[in-house]
Amino acid sequence: MATEARVVGNSTIVSTNPATGEVLAELACASSSDVQAAVLRAKQAQPAWEATPPRERVAVLRRFQRLLCEQRDQVADLICREAGKPAVEALTTEVLVILDAAEFCIHNAHDFLREEPLPHANLAMKTKRGKLLREPFGVIGIISPWNYPFSIAATETLGALVTGNAVVLKPSEFTPLIALELQRLLLAAGVNPDLMQVVIGEGPTGAALIESPIDKLIFTGSVATGKRVAEAAARKLLPVVLELGGKDPMIVLDDADVEIASSGALWGAFMNAGQTCLSVERCYVHRSLYENFLEACSNKIAKLRVGNGIGSEVEVGPLIHERQLRIVDEHVRDAVIHGARLLQGGKRLTELGPNFYAPTLLADVTRDMRIIREETFGPVLPVAPFDTDDEAIRLANDSDFGLAASVWTTNRRRGEAMAKQIKAGTVMINDVISCFGIAEAPHGGFKLSGIGRTHGKMGLAEMVQVKNVDTDLLPGMPKVWWFGYGEQFRQQMNGFIDLLFARSWGKKLKGALRSAGLLRRGNRI
Ligand code: NDP
Repeated sequence: MATEARVVGNSTIVSTNPATGEVLAELACASSSDVQAAVLRAKQAQPAWEATPPRERVAVLRRFQRLLCEQRDQVADLICREAGKPAVEALTTEVLVILDAAEFCIHNAHDFLREEPLPHANLAMKTKRGKLLREPFGVIGIISPWNYPFSIAATETLGALVTGNAVVLKPSEFTPLIALELQRLLLAAGVNPDLMQVVIGEGPTGAALIESPIDKLIFTGSVATGKRVAEAAARKLLPVVLELGGKDPMIVLDDADVEIASSGALWGAFMNAGQTCLSVERCYVHRSLYENFLEACSNKIAKLRVGNGIGSEVEVGPLIHERQLRIVDEHVRDAVIHGARLLQGGKRLTELGPNFYAPTLLADVTRDMRIIREETFGPVLPVAPFDTDDEAIRLANDSDFGLAASVWTTNRRRGEAMAKQIKAGTVMINDVISCFGIAEAPHGGFKLSGIGRTHGKMGLAEMVQVKNVDTDLLPGMPKVWWFGYGEQFRQQMNGFIDLLFARSWGKKLKGALRSAGLLRRGNRI
């Protein structure tokens, strides 16, 4: 039974339901010349869109938001079927996130794009007025993964469109139908079809998008692909945002509530079957709570319902494909061979379908295990004890990744103090992953987890180029710093520097007298 979308004869891909293996569609792949043509069409359409007042662009987003709200069941159902995630998660972590991201753009795009006055502090520049303009790049290429096939592609597309860009989106080969659904909604909301195009295909289609004349690339995916993308982009100095993998630590301090923290750990590790860049991938628990925490997690895991995500009762769905399942299995086996205690799961659930893996709890994991060093991206909660806060911070920072982290404590100050010492793009106190659903919050990582930010104002800032426009208010006056140098001018400038920056008032006064003739300077060329 087919469980992965795959290239057939190099010209089509097959989209399948990862829970059942059912074929959902067979789609034609875009060739390099198709990608090139799509980008050229986008380039032609973009200037008129850029010239459209932001208010009208916002109105299109408002219509998109309304349509998505009305048709949310249909969209969520498709996400369930093509990505395999539970119905509730399709609604909360995909549809709701995008309704809110649209709301953010609707309320903030206009102010964000407003011209910003730029005051000039330097006395020498007081005859000028500056302002900053935020202008679209042109065509934004978006390459997106399968794990949040709607919310990642849509957040980036909405930000690009509202700031006046056109978009060419290359979704993962495993979730093309969801990208087409996003396109359908945007077109129904009034977006010109050339402004939002989807190019279907595998990695080579993404590579062709990077080689095409796009003006910026927003890439979300693994570190390995991200490095290849960065190399290809560097060859043509294409600006890129890279949202890459994570190995997020969760730290449970000695004053934490074990009931709360264990439920949080479960959701953080098993939501979307652990296939979330912000998943809890390592859990460090203070030794005084360690065994209680493991027992609470083990008892709660036994209650999780695993199965086909369609329907409201399932909590953990399938993995996306067999390759992902193999990685998870290898990490769990490696951990057990190296001394980890397997307390729950650790096996495939073939009776449920092709891609199911049991929610797994591992205790006593150590840094020499793959499960602590590499991104697992599956339903596994690896737990280790620590003795002091300093040790917990050292363990949390002992990783090549730095996407997010969480600290669990009943003392807010203590949690926030620890957050300052953790090297990650986001640190949550007493929750996990939900930062992705805060439309105002920037999303992005330290270290190998990426470059740049999406979401919020920082995400909008990635979609524009800043132009500085500076106007001299005395156009008939030659500037003092122009040619016609000489000893007297040098003395005057020294006096001017003293006037501005000398520490004593006496020196400042002398500087003012020495520089007095600057404006009437002769010998100009
Ligand atoms: P991949 O890196 O395998 O793929 C990401 C995208 O890149 C896909 O659309 C893929 O196409 C495409 N691609 C593959 N090869 C190339 C290439 N040579 N040039 C251009 N594009 C290419 O990641 P996954 O789809 O497996 O997603 C999971 C990864 O994404 C995890 O590491 C996860 O942590 C990370 N991620 C990061 C997030 C963040 O915000 N930091 C959010 C979500 C996920 P195809 O699928 O067709 O091969």
